[in-house]
Amino acid sequence: MVRALADDGGVEFFAVPGLPDYHPSNPGGKPEGGRTLGQELFPFPTLGEWQDRVEVTPYYSPYLRMDETAIGCAVPKTPTDEEKAHREAEDLRGMGGGLVGALLNACLRVGVAIEVSTAARDLIIDNGRAIGVVAETADGRRTLQATRAVILATGGFEWNEEYRTAFLRGHVTKPASIPTNTGDGLRMAMRAGAALQNMREAWWIPITELPEGINSMNLEMINGDRTRPRSIMVNRTGRRFTNEAVSYNSVVGASIRRTSPRSGTPTCPRG
Ligand SMILES: Cc1cc2nc3c(=O)[nH]c(=O)nc-3n(C[C@H](O)[C@H](O)[C@H](O)COP(=O)(O)OP(=O)(O)OC[C@H]3O[C@@H](n4cnc5c(N)ncnc54)[C@H](O)[C@@H]3O)c2cc1C
Repeated sequence: MVRALADDGGVEFFAVPGLPDYHPSNPGGKPEGGRTLGQELFPFPTLGEWQDRVEVTPYYSPYLRMDETAIGCAVPKTPTDEEKAHREAEDLRGMGGGLVGALLNACLRVGVAIEVSTAARDLIIDNGRAIGVVAETADGRRTLQATRAVILATGGFEWNEEYRTAFLRGHVTKPASIPTNTGDGLRMAMRAGAALQNMREAWWIPITELPEGINSMNLEMINGDRTRPRSIMVNRTGRRFTNEAVSYNSVVGASIRRTSPRSGTPTCPRG
């Protein structure tokens, strides 16, 4: 996949130095790092009219590479002020934004027609095959025919309270992702009779709420700082519940197991 994106899509990755695997002690784990990939800075002016249409992360400066943030490196090497000014002037973005820019560029290069503000709502099923979708646009409902297949890629369902309560094993109060991920693809798949698996799990991350106005989500991810020596996290009863230095996914997994008030049998959501 990485080779295809690099060769055919022009996406430029690098191995983030020193960032260990999430479970480095598992067989084959790499405690010294080398598996996690970062995205090279991508020049957004390449995208032409799409340059200003890509969402900017609320959490970091968009002009940093993975190895220049606390999430990617224990001691991040910060770019000089001169380098920062250069990146800003040239709109050179890194991290997820840089990856999205490079992927978008790859799509535009091969002529993918991208429609924004167009929400897929229903699969059109013919003889057991998905042959298109009904989409909602500002001008009303439209039918889009598929020539070969329909791929559902609408992200997760973390912004859909009914689905969260029905499926997840933990009580999620503040998703850290884009609010348009309301499980539409899941709903369409369920209506089409799809078999579901692994629905209790999420890719968890501990967050803290910020006072209004610090970033657009009013959230901060608790990542590098909790893993430093002498940091201790406790639950609501004042008890330490995990190794603070494990991955963010494992920290929340542990906190849910020990502190979640939620229990009982999930009810089936409306499909
Ligand atoms: C704060 C944060 C940090 C992360 N950091 C990393 C990281 O460092 N490395 C890493 O590998 N991963 C990271 N991830 C995870 C990564 O972002 C996701 O795994 C990835 O974006 C999922 O891609 P996707 O295309 O499946 O869904 P998404 O990127 O969530 O995209 C789904 C899209 O579908 C759209 N959509 C929803 N409903 C409809 C509809 N009905 N019709 C049309 N469109 C619809 C949504 O608006 C959205 O744009 C992070 C995630 C978060 C939230």
